[in-house]
Amino acid sequence: MHCPFCRHPDSRVIDSRTSDDGLSIRRRRQCPQCGGRFTTVETASLNIIKRSGVIEPFSREKVMSGVRKACQGRPVTEADLALLAQRVEETVRQTGASQIDANEIGLAILGPLRDLDEVAYLRFASVYQAFDSLDDFEAAIEQLRIDHARGAQDPGVTDDRE
Ligand SMILES: [Zn+2]
Repeated sequence: MHCPFCRHPDSRVIDSRTSDDGLSIRRRRQCPQCGGRFTTVETASLNIIKRSGVIEPFSREKVMSGVRKACQGRPVTEADLALLAQRVEETVRQTGASQIDANEIGLAILGPLRDLDEVAYLRFASVYQAFDSLDDFEAAIEQLRIDHARGAQDPGVTDDRE
């Protein structure tokens, strides 16, 4: 890219480091003509196609705000949400696609959210999968119960029916 100061068409990389999550790299550059320094960030391109057809860059913050609503009143911290958003990003990046349907993001959220908090999961799933009857809730809860029974040896899993 051109130097942002003098538009010289070349620059020299003087430092480069990978972000903690390994998903981006920052490069400190210097212009050989004017000596100006600037930073570039390189990530694999990842765009979301919304239902309206609008395309926007993937944002962990958007994932977090969508999930945060479902987590109201639940014992879920901001750190939990940040980790969930990171897992979602890793999942969708693994597809290798540069454009992802918004639907795929919702799908990628369901698994980690279920691990995090089942009530929040049911709330989120009811909106995302457009539950329109008690039967839909019953089916989703039944599925959770089946999976609990399978994981019965896990002492962290409790059945709080009553
Ligand atoms: Zn320059």
